[in-house]
Amino acid sequence: MEIKQNVNLSQISYYGIGGKAKIVIDVSSEQDIKDALGYINANKLAPVYILGLGCNLLLPDENLEGVVLHIKSDSGSLTKEGTSITAFAGVKMSDLIEFSFKNGLAGLAWAGGLPSTVGGAVRGNAGCFGSEIKDNIRLVRYIDLSDSNLKIQTMDQTQCQFGYRESYFKRNPALLIVSATFNLQNAGLIEMQRQKEIYQKNIDYRQSHHPLEYPSCGSVFKNINQLDQVQKVMQVWPDIEALVKGKWYGKISMAYIIGRLGFSGYMIGGAQVSKKHNNYISNVGNAKAADVKAIIKAIQDKFSETFNFTPDPEVQILSVG
Ligand SMILES: Cc1cc2nc3c(=O)[nH]c(=O)nc-3n(C[C@H](O)[C@H](O)[C@H](O)COP(=O)(O)OP(=O)(O)OC[C@H]3O[C@@H](n4cnc5c(N)ncnc54)[C@H](O)[C@@H]3O)c2cc1C
Repeated sequence: MEIKQNVNLSQISYYGIGGKAKIVIDVSSEQDIKDALGYINANKLAPVYILGLGCNLLLPDENLEGVVLHIKSDSGSLTKEGTSITAFAGVKMSDLIEFSFKNGLAGLAWAGGLPSTVGGAVRGNAGCFGSEIKDNIRLVRYIDLSDSNLKIQTMDQTQCQFGYRESYFKRNPALLIVSATFNLQNAGLIEMQRQKEIYQKNIDYRQSHHPLEYPSCGSVFKNINQLDQVQKVMQVWPDIEALVKGKWYGKISMAYIIGRLGFSGYMIGGAQVSKKHNNYISNVGNAKAADVKAIIKAIQDKFSETFNFTPDPEVQILSVG
């Protein structure tokens, strides 16, 4: 583990946004986590913030007191047993997938291009191209930071209570994911080749459809997926029925709504609603968290004025005070 002081969070978060943290502890193994938690307890540091790659986090402009536990990549923390792979929480999804391919195991190609640590993906049940992390999870090991004995506990897939960008861990922020075990399938040479092609196709799709040239946090809002909310939007815009039933599989794309409400390219300070993908707010130049939050509020206000309910952000907004 490495303990750092007075760290500029904009330099370590994917979004390039954030004030300074008084203390950041980098951990890249299970032992590091135990050592770090021992140090945190001994020095009575609080609150504890958990950071993966920061791809789904809007950190505050204000400085953070307490401590940031930065769960970093260690591609060495990957083990295979039969058709299962266990990965330390800080392992990048791309390293996990590469390891699965090397071991002739299929099942994760859907996550091609998903910027994430394993811990971040499990907590938010990350998903794309019709699959979600819950489809592969067998076990998750975690520590309850609110419990003084800091024992590692285990949950199976059902206990994780996964939903659309939801999990038991997300609803219980004191739970620190330490590792996850994935159920995969043995694949022969031809099937492995097919899996690699799907993986690459998904990366290519992101490169051509998402504004990867700027830092962002991915999709800012969850798509509209609850039946009553889908109906409310369709009452105002009945012409989208065919899209809902076809292309959007019963949901409504927030990128579409944001565009149709007139926000494509909308800019405050250094933050801009991407013209390439309207559900992304890009950091186009020294954006502040306040800029991003002001855009989110403007969209939410217009949205609720139009449809009479407020859309849920997908991005995790960290506030202080
Ligand atoms: C360009 C781009 C494209 C994206 N595309 C997608 C997509 O297709 N699908 C999708 O679902 N998401 C997408 N995202 C969002 C993001 O990639 C995912 O949410 C990802 O899983 C976040 O992982 P992370 O390691 O960056 O987590 P962070 O952003 O660092 O953290 C997210 C939350 O999880 C918590 N957390 C992190 N690690 C742990 C841990 N070990 N234990 C407990 N809590 C933890 C943090 O405290 C925070 O609240 C995209 C983001 C970007 C920037």
